[in-house]
Amino acid sequence: MSGNDGIIFMIGGTQHCYMKINKILIANRGEIALRIIRACKELRIRTVAVYSDADRFSPHVFHADEAYRLGTPPASESYLKIEKIIEIADRSGSDAIHPGYGFLSENPEFAKEVEDRNLIFIGPSPETITTLGDKTRAKSLASKCGVDPVPGSPETLSSVESAVVAAKEIGFPVLLKAASGGGGKGIRIVRSAKELPEMFETASSEAYSSFNDPALFIERYIESPHHVEFQILGDKDGNVVHLGDRECSVQRRYQKVIEESPSPFVPDKIREEIGSYAVEIAKSAGYYSAGTVEFIVDNKLNYYFLEMNTRLQVEHPVTEMRTGVDIVKEQINIAEGNKLPFGQHEITYSGHAIECRITAEDALNDFLPDSGSIDNYIEPGGPGIRIDTGVQNDSEISPYYDPLISKLIAWGNDRVESIARCRRALSEYIITGISTSIPFCVSALMNDKFVKGDYDTDIAGEIIKEMPSRFEEKDVDAAAIGAAAYTVMNSQNGKVSGSAGQSIFKSWKMHGRKSALR
Ligand code: ADP
Repeated sequence: MSGNDGIIFMIGGTQHCYMKINKILIANRGEIALRIIRACKELRIRTVAVYSDADRFSPHVFHADEAYRLGTPPASESYLKIEKIIEIADRSGSDAIHPGYGFLSENPEFAKEVEDRNLIFIGPSPETITTLGDKTRAKSLASKCGVDPVPGSPETLSSVESAVVAAKEIGFPVLLKAASGGGGKGIRIVRSAKELPEMFETASSEAYSSFNDPALFIERYIESPHHVEFQILGDKDGNVVHLGDRECSVQRRYQKVIEESPSPFVPDKIREEIGSYAVEIAKSAGYYSAGTVEFIVDNKLNYYFLEMNTRLQVEHPVTEMRTGVDIVKEQINIAEGNKLPFGQHEITYSGHAIECRITAEDALNDFLPDSGSIDNYIEPGGPGIRIDTGVQNDSEISPYYDPLISKLIAWGNDRVESIARCRRALSEYIITGISTSIPFCVSALMNDKFVKGDYDTDIAGEIIKEMPSRFEEKDVDAAAIGAAAYTVMNSQNGKVSGSAGQSIFKSWKMHGRKSALR
């Protein structure tokens, strides 16, 4: 380690280790790498970025104090290369590694290797990651703490026959889930025994292609479910608090698109109850650092433990906006061995926050993934708006990584103001050259059920139905005038500048030609 002021001292018979962190390697990319760099700068900690060839010119590379190449674009050749990342941490004199989310963030071997090499892993202990990463162990831990997991098969299922037996015991509808799952991959709802063999086959092969592991679980499918989760912070002295809940029920293909805090569905009394269980579960796992305990809540307010994510979440900013706690800075303080600076009752909440994930997926074309160059990127601003992004003008969206371009977080004094600000901010985005999920987010923010706060995970289907089809004829003239005005604004000496203007013209020319052909 580089010039550290390590101190070991005793409190109440337990050995505590305090280690000042001077330099952090961020083993990630995109918006989350930049988010972590920003926290480090405020703490006057030096930063080391790593990048693949696809990210050579990414903002996270420029914002860090140092940057090192990992390899070619595939994650297996870059952001997943444990040995190379640790070697760079050593070479750069880093004291600690922050894994962000995704990639190596929930890999216990990585966390262990980091610690074995005398570096600090900014996350929970490798043992805790292992325990909570094993869904069976995590569920039994939750049961011991007094909260039921979703009823389901205790072990993974090896054959369709065993799935049929388990499903009959649990009762239809059931949910097949990849044992090594994440990101909603390998999940299927099965409504009858007849559907089971085919669904088992497709879920299992999706699980195999995504995680190299075909093993599946089976759970009762909770109808009209709400995904409600609690943000946890724990220190190395065993103090654990929660920072409130988030409702993440606007999901497409089991992946979150819009999150908000607090949940508009869960009453305060139940919120308090679930929050205490979340803290209890984290405590009994010996959890330190930031983490998230996820629950499924049915429409009668029965709640079940789903899983615990042992990392920073994409949606952590909605919690930060309501509590004023900088979760990344707290992770670093905890990693240094500091105690949490607040107890549960010192945490205060203010207003309401909503996050929209803006991804490079064409919402108007069945969310077809898009890649290539962002010609123009202009982000919203103004009261209550926070944007976390890892792109800028001319950034390349690579097909190798997750499609997140920008996170819009809108805070308001109440939910009504937060929705109004979120809508207003969505209308300020200008992203050209690449298709995005913005039309879905706009439609969601206009949806009656969403506005009333009366929605569950079925809402995405309704939102998609309400979205305008690609271009409505009546909008064409207005949009063409807007595009032309925008292009003129961006012109120099009357000439169209850059590729943004060209691409806008290209789209409208194409549309004109298609109309003429009709
Ligand atoms: P992953 O680890 O792949 O993200 P999760 O177990 O977190 O999978 O589930 C993803 C989403 O699937 C949840 O947020 C929820 O919307 C839905 N889901 C999961 N389990 C159930 C269940 N038993 N019943 C109903 N919906 C569920």
